[in-house]
Order: sequence, then C-alpha cells, then structure tokens
Amino acid sequence: METTQPSLYVVPTPIGNLADITLRALDILKKADVILAEDTRTSGFLLKHYQISKPLQSFHIFNEHKTLAGLIQRMQQGEVMALVSDAGTPGISDPGFLLVREVLRAGLQIDCLPGPTALIPALIKSGFPTDRFVFEGFLPHKKGRQTLLKKLAEEERTIVLYESPHRLVKTLEQVKEFFGDFRLVSVSRELTKMHEETFTGTVVDTLTHFQKKEIKGEIVMVIHGKEK
Ligand code: SAM
Repeated sequence: METTQPSLYVVPTPIGNLADITLRALDILKKADVILAEDTRTSGFLLKHYQISKPLQSFHIFNEHKTLAGLIQRMQQGEVMALVSDAGTPGISDPGFLLVREVLRAGLQIDCLPGPTALIPALIKSGFPTDRFVFEGFLPHKKGRQTLLKKLAEEERTIVLYESPHRLVKTLEQVKEFFGDFRLVSVSRELTKMHEETFTGTVVDTLTHFQKKEIKGEIVMVIHGKEK
C-alpha cells in the first residue's frame, strides 16, 4: 500500500529535564496508535507526566530483529507508530536505524522530529569548533579500540564520544597516550540535570579533575581536533 502520511514517527524525548520536549513531539505521541519504547517503564513515566495514555510496545536491541516484520505489516495495514528511546533521539546510539530502514524499504513514509540529543549541547558547551565534527558514539571496549584511537588522534575535526562513568578515566588516559598531554578535551556530565557539569581543559588537567572524585552519571566527551 502506498501512503503519503508517515507510518513511523521518530520522536526525541528529554535527556534529563522533562521540560525538554517539543509541543509537536507531545502532539505526535498523543496521535499515534502505538508507541514503540526502548523501556516501557521509562517511557511510561514520561507519558504519565504529560498525561498521555497510549498503548506501549517494547522495542529494544534484544527484540528489534524479530519484531521488524510484524511491525511493518501493521503499518501497512494503517497503524501509525511513534518510536521513542529512553532518552534523546532514537537511532543515535539507540535502537531505531533498523526499523527506519525497513519502513523505507517497504515503501512507507517516516518522519523524524528534531529534538533532544546529548551530543549537540556537549559540543556547543565545549567551545571547540562546531563547523565540522565527527560523532563516534561509544568507543569499542576491546577489539579495534587502539586502532581507532590512533586514527582519531590525526582527525582535524572536533570529535564527540559517548562514555560511561566507569570508563571515563581509562579513556582519558588513552587520549593522553595517543593524542598527547596538551590536547584539549571537554567532558559534559549529567546534561540538563541537577548535577550538570562541564569541565574543559588539557587532557592532563581533565584527568586530574576526574581522578579526584567518584564519577557518576551520563557523559559526553568532546575532543578538540588536531591543530593543522
Ligand atoms: N539517544 C541518545 C541521544 O540522542 O543522545 C543517546 C543514548 S545512549 C544509549 C546513552 C548515552 O548518551 C550516555 O551513556 C551518555 O554518553 C549520553 N547521554 C545521554 N543523556 C546524557 C546526559 N543527560 N548527559 C550527558 N550524556 C548523556
């Protein structure tokens, strides 16, 4: 069936502060027939806050492959779905890409609303050049990690990474090793939340800062590109 209306809306949700949701996102969540959610409890909390009552269906990395065909079939029969993740924009280090690809392959329409994502505020708050940047998501934990870091050390564009609190110091130590002591980095923690913090400095100063305390919360690391 050919349709001109989107069958799937990708809907960004807050990365911390519940007020960071657009009027249009709320409107789409109210109108959709079903909301596909990475974690139905997390999204249920958001929906309750905005007094939206909709059927929720779980859609996460452990079931996305096996649920794809059924979801497409239902969209072909006219169901309109909204996809949300736990935080930020679905598809950005979150499930979404596979579903979007299948929906498009099936000749159906998708729409993606602009909205919250953690990488952009961290990039802007770093004060590093924003005209060009690369987003690497989470670095691989083992295989290919060193090779990638060596390659990134030569990158002239600003680099944005997602990082977990317990790996931050290890990653900073490796940035120091591969990029040199004086490379500027900016670490944004708990963006939009009560304990939000951005520390920017040389990798050595940043290491000293974060080695001093227990690191908690969610983290985006921004690395200044190699100077020409
Ligand atoms: N889809 C999300 C987005 O659009 O940013 C990213 C999801 S990914 C599974 C989660 C990671 O995003 C966290 O480990 C952290 O690196 C980053 N992140 C999410 N919320 C954040 C916040 N409030 N402050 C800092 N980093 C955040």
